[in-house]
Amino acid sequence: MSLPALVEPAAELTIDEVRRYSRHLIIPDVGMTGQKRLKNAKVLVIGAGGLGSPALLYLAAAGVGTLGIAEFDEVDESNLQRQIIHGQSDIGRPKAESARDSILEANPYVEVVVHNERLDNDNVLSVFEGYDLIVDGTDNFATRYMVNDAAYFLKIPYVWGSIYRFDGQASVFWPSSGDEAPCYRCLYPEPPPPGMVPSCAEGGVLGVLCASIGSIQVNEAIKVLSGIGDPAVGKLVIYDALELEWRKLKVRKDPSCALCGENPTVTGLIDYEAFCGAISDEAADAAAGSTISVVQLEHMLKERAEGTRDFVLVDVREPNEFEINRIPGSVLIPKGDFLNGSALEQLPGVDSGTQVVMHCKSGVRSAETLAVVKGAGYDDAVHVGGGVVAWVNQVDPSQPTY
Ligand SMILES: [Zn+2]
Repeated sequence: MSLPALVEPAAELTIDEVRRYSRHLIIPDVGMTGQKRLKNAKVLVIGAGGLGSPALLYLAAAGVGTLGIAEFDEVDESNLQRQIIHGQSDIGRPKAESARDSILEANPYVEVVVHNERLDNDNVLSVFEGYDLIVDGTDNFATRYMVNDAAYFLKIPYVWGSIYRFDGQASVFWPSSGDEAPCYRCLYPEPPPPGMVPSCAEGGVLGVLCASIGSIQVNEAIKVLSGIGDPAVGKLVIYDALELEWRKLKVRKDPSCALCGENPTVTGLIDYEAFCGAISDEAADAAAGSTISVVQLEHMLKERAEGTRDFVLVDVREPNEFEINRIPGSVLIPKGDFLNGSALEQLPGVDSGTQVVMHCKSGVRSAETLAVVKGAGYDDAVHVGGGVVAWVNQVDPSQPTY
């Protein structure tokens, strides 16, 4: 179903702009009017990361007149495998500023607005206000639900995308465009249980997948802004890069949706961190009072080397992560082996007096695993807060991070 154009056309294109956008202008569906609409459009991209990088570059090149960048992070070397808006010389710079420079290099006629701050309940509505459309390139559920709700309250359409390893998804959420148009909560009423869905930082992502999904998001943004084609409102696009397969599913509006349904219970911004939970209740209970710092661990390892202390240090990450970096003296037993029970026979007996110390990349998986180990009777087991990331940052900077 086609929808009316979201944005009114700008008064005119300059001669330079006509030259620049000529390959758009000669497409009958876009034409001069469509290009003028893009010129008048104000689009906010959340995140200048995997999805935001290609999205910002293509929105800029397409001639979207005003581009906002909401991003608080800095460029890290591990970003460059996919975040093509940043380069080697940008490492350590704020991503928002690095992205702005690349955009102006791609198209100096774009007005760039930098929001170098973390979006939260206090600022999200004021940042969103004034934009015609939002492209969501966030990588965590708490922000995703916040973006959905804020966009709904302000009646701003947004194009959502998500990526993990070889799998991508995208859709357009625009409940105010029609009675049948769903929101993100209609599709995913509840976030996944904490610890069940790893982030790209934990599980990895194929770099080029960002371009596949990011370009779909721009494709849909252009269609909504200029009123051409059939935007993916009420449709979920699913991409499997390994099978090279695109699928499109219908997403229905949920009459019982907590946000856009008939009797909404979410009538204002909520506590999204609590709603999504960084870790499960079981993991939080297990970790309470049983979390040590990497500095404490370093001290314990010294005592173990001197023979005054006995414990086993278990790394619950995956083998390919263990190859990148590790805490010396750790043994690898992936989290999955704890969940299926096979790991317990690899541990010293409960009555052996040997303490079990667990760690992962950041402390989430090890907290989940700690709950399993404690449940098996290892009452004095602990896990390492911040995991190997904290170890490299605070104890052993000679190792790479990922
Ligand atoms: Zn809904």
